[in-house]
Amino acid sequence: MDVNSVKTRFAPSPTGLLHLGNVRTALFNYLLAQRFNGQFLLRLEDTDAVRSEEKFEQALQEDLLWLSLTWQEGPEKDGGNGPYWQSQRATIYKEYFDKLLGHQQAYPCFCTEQELKLSRKAQLAAGKPPRYAGKCRGLSPDEVQAKFSAGLPSTLRFHVPDDCTITFEDKVRGQQTYKGLDIGDFIIRRSDGTPAFFFCNAVDDALMKVSLVVRGEDHLTNTPRQLMILKSLGLAPLPEYAHISLVVGFDGAPLSKRHGSKTVKELRDSGYLPLAIINYLARLGHTYENNNLMSLQELAAEIEIKHLHKSPARFDQTQLDHWQKEVVLSATDDELLAWLLGHESVKKKINEFVPAEKKPEFINTIRDNMVMPEDASVWAEVIFTNELMLSGDALSEIKKTGTAFFQDAAKILPDNGEDFKKFSRATGEKTNKKGKNLFMPLRAALTGRTQGPEMAKMWHLLGTERIQTRLVAALELTKENQ
Ligand code: GLU
Repeated sequence: MDVNSVKTRFAPSPTGLLHLGNVRTALFNYLLAQRFNGQFLLRLEDTDAVRSEEKFEQALQEDLLWLSLTWQEGPEKDGGNGPYWQSQRATIYKEYFDKLLGHQQAYPCFCTEQELKLSRKAQLAAGKPPRYAGKCRGLSPDEVQAKFSAGLPSTLRFHVPDDCTITFEDKVRGQQTYKGLDIGDFIIRRSDGTPAFFFCNAVDDALMKVSLVVRGEDHLTNTPRQLMILKSLGLAPLPEYAHISLVVGFDGAPLSKRHGSKTVKELRDSGYLPLAIINYLARLGHTYENNNLMSLQELAAEIEIKHLHKSPARFDQTQLDHWQKEVVLSATDDELLAWLLGHESVKKKINEFVPAEKKPEFINTIRDNMVMPEDASVWAEVIFTNELMLSGDALSEIKKTGTAFFQDAAKILPDNGEDFKKFSRATGEKTNKKGKNLFMPLRAALTGRTQGPEMAKMWHLLGTERIQTRLVAALELTKENQ
């Protein structure tokens, strides 16, 4: 690989929203381009006019930009190799179809669906792998003309010489060898005139000077066909290929909704932060020695093609959440507040419960106890509401601790309420409790939970009045059913 002129690309079909599997492919391509100071290109493979939609084109560009996976060439960034929409490249493809036809490396095929189906069936019955039997390969120019004149629909097939062998070095999977006979003549132009994936994807990579193609292993067997096309057209240099493992769910099946897989938009809407998704995906099917949260630049500096995995990459929500937590921990309070206020339902809760002047202190208090924005809504309610909901654990902690403790605590509070340290020390001395036995019942009574932000920090946000109310409420609870 010429490391001085690396050009990678992401070539999605805009037929749906981007999900984690697609984005991971974009990410590896982006990182490898960065790693070698190269270029990352975006091309929209929208030849399927029925399934491609402009809204998906927009959405996928928005998702990439949100993740900071910016392309140096592609839509809005003309690098002189456009257009970057395959639907706008019909005249270019025509030129190359004509070239293959002119060199007898492609031929029109008039076989009907029905004929092809029967032929496939017969081959399977004979224990042979199904491939095009070559019926139209030998048609004479006159026969072809006659069929055209009769208005018969035709596809265009690439002629694969029976005795050819295609070998290439996949940068993840090593040497790959395919026999022409096993591939058979394949369609490069459909009967409706649109180019087949193999064809335009390969031609565009060459014309757009892509030097390294990183894509899912589901495309591995397309590669020999694509290399044959490029060689026949004399399009060089040929790109290098790296076929990465696919992302699978916990059961090894391709990742889907069933495994909790979400689209990038869903992840964004629920509050995942871009750098969390990036750090997670960069390690999904690629090993980094460095386990710290890294910026895109840092990830790019340490990506290694040889560290891309061959075996399937298993999606793991807890890992994604781990990186989310890391990003939250590394963000400033202002960044966190902006993030929270960017989520309507959370913004509503914060504005409803948290007094404006207490917002900065509130964020600083809960920051270590947040993974998703909704967590802030919960803490806003816990700290600032008059109606405290108790968890089962908190209730049993309160009951187990008993009436006397809360009686003492409530009595101690008025003279020791300046801070939690003073109050807990005085309560500890009076009740003869320390450590967990002292702090857990206080936490349970004051927050309704047995886990959460530091009590000392929450103290001021709660305020003496609310603390007193909650101690008394806990006291009352200890008297119930006794
Ligand atoms: N449009 C193809 C896809 O989305 C591109 C495959 C490739 O990367 O070559 O699967």
